[in-house]
Amino acid sequence: MMAKIIIIGAGGVASAAAAKCCQNSEVFSEIMIASRAKAKCDALADRLRAVAYGGGKTRITTAEVNADDVTALITLISGYRPDAVLHLALPYQDLTIMEACLAAGVHYIDTANYEPRDEARFEYKWQWAYRERFADAGLTALLGSGFDPGVTGVFSAYALKHYFDEIYYLDILDANGGDHGYPFATNFNPEINIREVSAPGSYWENGAWVHTPPMAIKRVYDFPRIGPKDMYLLHHEELESLALNIPGIRRIRFFMTFGESYLTHLKCLENVGMTSIKPIMYEGREIVPIQFLKAVLPDPAGLGPRTVGKTNIGCVFTGVRNGQLKNLYIYNVCDHQECFREVGTQAISYTTGVPAMIGAMMVITGKWRRPGVFNVEEFDPDPFMGALSVWGLPWVADENPVMVE
Ligand code: NDP
Repeated sequence: MMAKIIIIGAGGVASAAAAKCCQNSEVFSEIMIASRAKAKCDALADRLRAVAYGGGKTRITTAEVNADDVTALITLISGYRPDAVLHLALPYQDLTIMEACLAAGVHYIDTANYEPRDEARFEYKWQWAYRERFADAGLTALLGSGFDPGVTGVFSAYALKHYFDEIYYLDILDANGGDHGYPFATNFNPEINIREVSAPGSYWENGAWVHTPPMAIKRVYDFPRIGPKDMYLLHHEELESLALNIPGIRRIRFFMTFGESYLTHLKCLENVGMTSIKPIMYEGREIVPIQFLKAVLPDPAGLGPRTVGKTNIGCVFTGVRNGQLKNLYIYNVCDHQECFREVGTQAISYTTGVPAMIGAMMVITGKWRRPGVFNVEEFDPDPFMGALSVWGLPWVADENPVMVE
């Protein structure tokens, strides 16, 4: 198999995914890294060449592209003629890149669903609207091939295929037991992070959304290899597709851990107005408080070398098999420092970059190729589950888990 792909974006997730593609040079013989700033792509390419992952066999090139510009994307893709485009820039660019893939006739893979810039709301409806066009073009668009969304959907399809006749309840649990040593810092872009955690929560129950105030539902869960952590119910994008794709599901919830120090700082910053997105006048010029806050907070990209501890992300299921009610917990534990040593990023980027590479491999090798637009749980989970263990995200299936209240 000799395939080439374009990776769009050169941030944390793209760095981890590109390293994994190079390790997997039997599939990815050539990659192009294309992003807004070519210098960032070149720096990443230099690092990949210096480490010589997979014996340095993957040919790496770089390019500058504005992924908001469909014409520029078509020119880039048509010139390089890849087998697929792996979109690891920002959710704002999903639709422009899908358009360009259709025009250039190549497959599309991403890790986050489209979000309009002017509205803090993510939904699949914009991308699902492309189903017919991808089907007619004979192309595959694979949506949400990160960890959550991504691996959580594959875990669900695997549980349904091998452990249950029907799944009734699903709790997705995302724990970051990492410590970067700062009293307050965000693991990714502070503006997006703060917007996400201060948004109202919601979960799916008996065929409808139940809405809650932000951080209103708290549980303590004893995570394997991390220990007990406070976790809070959030809305998360995979709830929308899993509610459709797991037949008979009665409830799906998503919980993420937050430390007390993080939440206390956040509350205080909110109370004094520092998280506001409304511009204010300061010494004769307009500033946006949250953007000023971002400038004084630690840069998320710099957290890699100093973050210690582990992540644990997984799914707790309840359902029936042969008339018997049963539980199952499938999860992965990932160590921040090990990720940093291997690919130069912390575990948040690693746990997204590995499934992004695997998703691209599934499409390119034809294991997951069907004309249309699909979420990961719509394909056979077995080859993906096998690849997770091979490429750095081994998982555990525990049939006797602690349940969430
Ligand atoms: P970063 O901010 O580190 O990287 C984003 C990259 O995209 C940067 O290189 C940035 O360039 C580039 N970019 C931004 N706008 C454009 C544009 N218009 N044209 C070309 N390039 C552009 O983000 P991450 O690597 O942390 O995240 C990447 C994606 O992964 C996001 O969509 C995020 O939502 C998703 N994600 C998914 C997860 C999952 O589990 N499913 C978990 C974590 C992230 P520049 O450096 O110049 O700004």
